[in-house]
Amino acid sequence: MADNVNQNGKYKPHVLVLGSNFGGLTAARLIREEAKETVDITVIDRKPYLLFVPNIPLEVFGNHDPVSKLHMPFYQFLKEDKTNFLQAEVKGIDIESKYVDIVPTERSGSAPEKVYYDYLVIALGTRLDYAAIPGFGEYGHTVSDSYYGNKLRRFLFEGHYKGGPIAVGSARFKMGKRGNPEWLHDMKAACEGPPLEISLGLSSLLEERKWGTSKNITLFTPGEYIAEDAGIPIVKEFLHMAKDQMGMGYINNVGDVKQIYKDGIEFTNGASVEAELKIVLPNWNPHEFMKGLPISDEEGFVVTDLFMRNPEHPEIMAVGDASALAAPKLGGLGDMQARIVARQIAKDMGVLKHPEEDKPFKPVIMCFGDMGNRKAFYIHSDLFFGGKTGIMKMGHMYYAMKMGFKEMYYQTGGKPPGWGIKLTEVMGG
Ligand SMILES: Cc1cc2nc3c(=O)[nH]c(=O)nc-3n(C[C@H](O)[C@H](O)[C@H](O)COP(=O)(O)OP(=O)(O)OC[C@H]3O[C@@H](n4cnc5c(N)ncnc54)[C@H](O)[C@@H]3O)c2cc1C
Repeated sequence: MADNVNQNGKYKPHVLVLGSNFGGLTAARLIREEAKETVDITVIDRKPYLLFVPNIPLEVFGNHDPVSKLHMPFYQFLKEDKTNFLQAEVKGIDIESKYVDIVPTERSGSAPEKVYYDYLVIALGTRLDYAAIPGFGEYGHTVSDSYYGNKLRRFLFEGHYKGGPIAVGSARFKMGKRGNPEWLHDMKAACEGPPLEISLGLSSLLEERKWGTSKNITLFTPGEYIAEDAGIPIVKEFLHMAKDQMGMGYINNVGDVKQIYKDGIEFTNGASVEAELKIVLPNWNPHEFMKGLPISDEEGFVVTDLFMRNPEHPEIMAVGDASALAAPKLGGLGDMQARIVARQIAKDMGVLKHPEEDKPFKPVIMCFGDMGNRKAFYIHSDLFFGGKTGIMKMGHMYYAMKMGFKEMYYQTGGKPPGWGIKLTEVMGG
């Protein structure tokens, strides 16, 4: 058991944050800000940098390597916070004994170890399950990490793409149900902002390079509507633009992706689409070791109340894509949850400065999507969750805001004033 004490000889609880991308890094940094020196904090991630996922499509379509643009080292920020970092793979969680099993990842062959926690913040995201899509490795493309981003970049810019049809869409997302509040609807796709963004960004690229037009592109979705979480009026506006004005194809209710072939995609509902380029977002599938835990739902997402604490194990909290309440899977929701978790821990330590901000999770979709030609769309909506706000805007200003948010994120080391919320309220809302 950790035996650190503070200056008054009082035991300092050990907060263990698993994962250090959007959810985990922001949570760790805000816990230090809110709880000050009352806790020891350790962050564990298999890699020592944050991958700035939302900007991968625009860097790829700009023929820039995401590795050089979108890897943000975070070690220095954690060091300044006096937060420990362990570069290791999380292998399992022993909830009764409060230990996490890890294996260091810098070199292969490392021996397993155990790390004790008093508080556990799970921000491990999920497995993006491309491996479950038959044919993906050979014929599929995507934009969710640097490896796949560069694979697509080479396909487009090294002369492999011959101007044929393009399919963009998602495989079926499997969401759990256990413990979900009634406003959390079952979703058939985990995150469909990217397909919208990819279709618009690609269509600008095709025209700029004279490789084709937006008519080359077909969007597909397992849902009734693509990106339904933006709110149906917004989706209808988007589809009017994409289908009626730009001439894109659109197929809905496809079931799941059954198989990707060289010349197209077959879906489980029997439909198929011809495509030279197949860009697919997969099922967001929780890590194997999360499945079957008493804190997890049927799929392996962490069940929490609206203060992000597991009801049976309130010392365990979840942030970001690993959380059952983050649906759709959006970094913006993880950011809101990280703020809640930091306040919860500060409150337990008796040092919460602004109790009036100690509010339950209330999701809002906040999203900037690249459209090419230095334009972006901006969506601010809580319609999907029963709210009344539904805003979609487009233009150069929103592109500047998208890029500005990344700069702010890097400058603050993952501690922005709130996923662009204040900025968007001033400029966009
Ligand atoms: C193309 C694309 C565009 C997107 N655009 C937007 C957008 O515009 N706005 C938005 O809000 N969201 C967007 N998203 C969603 C957003 O990227 C995710 O919601 C966000 O990354 C989730 O953050 P997270 O920290 O919860 O999980 P992740 O980003 O998945 O991070 C998990 C971290 O845990 C680490 N990890 C995982 N397993 C282990 C293990 N076993 N041991 C050790 N470390 C481990 C990983 O290395 C990683 O650092 C987009 C997603 C995609 C794919």
